[in-house]
Amino acid sequence: MQEKLEEIRNKGLNEIKSAKSLEELQEVKRILTGKKSDLSEISKGMGNIEPEMRKEVGIAITEIRNTFMEELTKKENQLIDEKSVLDEPIDVTVPGKSPIKGVLHPITQMCYDLNDAFLSLGFEVFSEDDISSEKYAFDNLNFAPDHPARQMMDTYWISGTENKSNNERLCLRPHLTGASVRYLLKHGAPARFVYPGRVYRNEDVDSAHERAFFQYEALIVDKDISFSSGMVMIKTILEKVFGREVNVRMREGFFPFVEPGYEIDMECLVCGGKGCRVCKHNGWIEVMPGGVIHPNVLKSANLDPEEWTGFYINIGLERLVMMRYGVDDIRWFHSGDLRFLNQFK
Ligand SMILES: [Zn+2]
Repeated sequence: MQEKLEEIRNKGLNEIKSAKSLEELQEVKRILTGKKSDLSEISKGMGNIEPEMRKEVGIAITEIRNTFMEELTKKENQLIDEKSVLDEPIDVTVPGKSPIKGVLHPITQMCYDLNDAFLSLGFEVFSEDDISSEKYAFDNLNFAPDHPARQMMDTYWISGTENKSNNERLCLRPHLTGASVRYLLKHGAPARFVYPGRVYRNEDVDSAHERAFFQYEALIVDKDISFSSGMVMIKTILEKVFGREVNVRMREGFFPFVEPGYEIDMECLVCGGKGCRVCKHNGWIEVMPGGVIHPNVLKSANLDPEEWTGFYINIGLERLVMMRYGVDDIRWFHSGDLRFLNQFK
């Protein structure tokens, strides 16, 4: 009996070792440990074995069965490991799964497009902090001491600085223009630069207004800048950005830091000037204020207004993007709604 058991063990271990696939191993398992296996047959015939041998044989059968189970598990793991490499070789012709790609926000894209257009005309790109002081946000820009824009109802003031002097009284910048004086103080004239950034206004939110939105300012300071050369520049920039002919017009506008000041409109690209939902049916979209820099602003920048002239425009980035894609509600841009953003892929 001992010899027979030893033979079953060796034969079984050999069969496990030589199994070449999981299916084959499954069959070996059935033969070695199933109800009709040699071990089961011996167990069933235990009554024929001499009583003094029964215990010894029982222990040997259990031990062999356990050994089989251990070896079967080991072999199974080995075959699984090999299968992933050998049985399923990499098929290089199967199309890959492309990773989910993010895209630039349409406002960021517009900003980059404007940067490219201005850089090609020799402008420098400049940026500043979102927090400004009253001196740079208002005083330097020729705002009267009692101008309503200085009030809490229009501007977000930083708490704790309300009662400080105008250089230390801080606010979230209500426009970018304060940066122009800082740049000119640092770099002097002549200068041509743009400065994109977010600005903050304490106003009611609706389809055309947000409390935080993006502006893009451009400024040229030189000795003989004419307003007409400024208008040519605006038309050139808009045509570079939109890749087509753009008509612009100007209307008189009043801002403390320009004299004369203008509102600059572009013909609606969605309807070609015929009137549509996006242009509120008048064929034109107000895209930027602009004008000739007020002499007092040049003085704040230590420049002589007799010697230097400045031309300024301030583009509403959201307006331009709305024009580019025919979006009719500004609130979509900051909604974080992927259904909206995924349209720009
Ligand atoms: Zn229109």
